[in-house]
Amino acid sequence: MSLELVLEIIPGWQLHVFAAVFGALWGSFANVVIARWPKEMSVVRPASHCFACETPVRFYDNIPVVSYLLLRGRCRHCKARFSARYAVVELAMALLSVGVMRLVLASDPQTVLIAASMYFFWFGLVWALITAGLIDLDTFLLPDVITLPGIGLGLFFNIFVLRNDWMPPVIGAVGGYAVLSLLFVHGYKALFGHSGMGRGDPKLVAMIGACLGYKGAMFALFAGALQGLFAGALLVFQRRKSGTGPEPPELDYDREDGGDPQRDMRLRKARVPFGPFLALGAIEYLFFGDILLAGYLGLFERLLSAGM
Ligand SMILES: [Zn+2]
Repeated sequence: MSLELVLEIIPGWQLHVFAAVFGALWGSFANVVIARWPKEMSVVRPASHCFACETPVRFYDNIPVVSYLLLRGRCRHCKARFSARYAVVELAMALLSVGVMRLVLASDPQTVLIAASMYFFWFGLVWALITAGLIDLDTFLLPDVITLPGIGLGLFFNIFVLRNDWMPPVIGAVGGYAVLSLLFVHGYKALFGHSGMGRGDPKLVAMIGACLGYKGAMFALFAGALQGLFAGALLVFQRRKSGTGPEPPELDYDREDGGDPQRDMRLRKARVPFGPFLALGAIEYLFFGDILLAGYLGLFERLLSAGM
């Protein structure tokens, strides 16, 4: 069936509403994974409960974004305050899901099956990026259970579903992983005695490369590094202004043990992990990559011709 035929039966606004609700529900699940994966808890059981009084959250109090607003971010029973991040993640996923739906409709896919697989695949990528990025922000760890299947699914989708050229995603995945782990993990360690990057970062770049091709991986790397440096500079500035505490210890990516909690606290306040910024760069590329790359190349050409 052609997409036009389906769009005659299902109006566009219904697809947008579906995308918003679907995105918010997966945002809610992302919150569960982000909270439980670092504690090695099941993401299915037990059902959601208040972190303070442990009363189970009833289904009508578990509606993404809406319940947070109705209950003003508090537990119905003990009034303990929940982090606003839960609602922000749900809202962001709802909006990004609508964005992915618009992206798919604008790309004029040939059949409904291709349109649907594009929507689920790109939204799955956004979900994986945000979930892995926020886990990295909280714990300085990137879960293999997200990045490794992401590499396989990305290659499969690009090569067998979209029937794109196999080179860009394969170069993105293999090249991204090889270059980063050689330079920043093993090479850096040989030179400076410790890794310059977490061991999960090359796998995240490989996932981005498998899904978005090597251009996407390169864009995420450069845009992510720029934005990460900017965030790091802001953090240092803020720390100077508030004039708090001693210099933070060096971040040791190779540490295997649980570590010293106080040292970890200081690290967390002073360092920014790379994963969230790689994820941000990849999402920017997914939505604006063509425009940004064209603008960047155009600027480069103008600079060249002005120099001639
Ligand atoms: Zn409670």
